[in-house]
Amino acid sequence: MVTCGLLKSNFSDMERIHVQVYIAVVLILSFLIAALVFNVVPNESDFYYQGDYVTHLFHKPGCLYYGCKSCTVIFREREDAIKAGYLPCKICNP
Ligand SMILES: [Zn+2]
Repeated sequence: MVTCGLLKSNFSDMERIHVQVYIAVVLILSFLIAALVFNVVPNESDFYYQGDYVTHLFHKPGCLYYGCKSCTVIFREREDAIKAGYLPCKICNP
């Protein structure tokens, strides 16, 4: 019967490195899988409206003005933009 303490003290440096490499590989793999799962699954929260703080218009993704320099105000819901005093853009009609 070998106790845990004996097992530890019998570990050679090579065995210790193997265990460390194994733990590192497992950690990296689980991180990659988690990253894949979270990126591949379509996320509803990726969709948002952008408000232009200069013109006070808001745009939906795909609009010509979406991502413009002054489009820095983010709205999750159309109602939020309207409540904040923003008007729907005439081009993308969000
Ligand atoms: Zn627009």
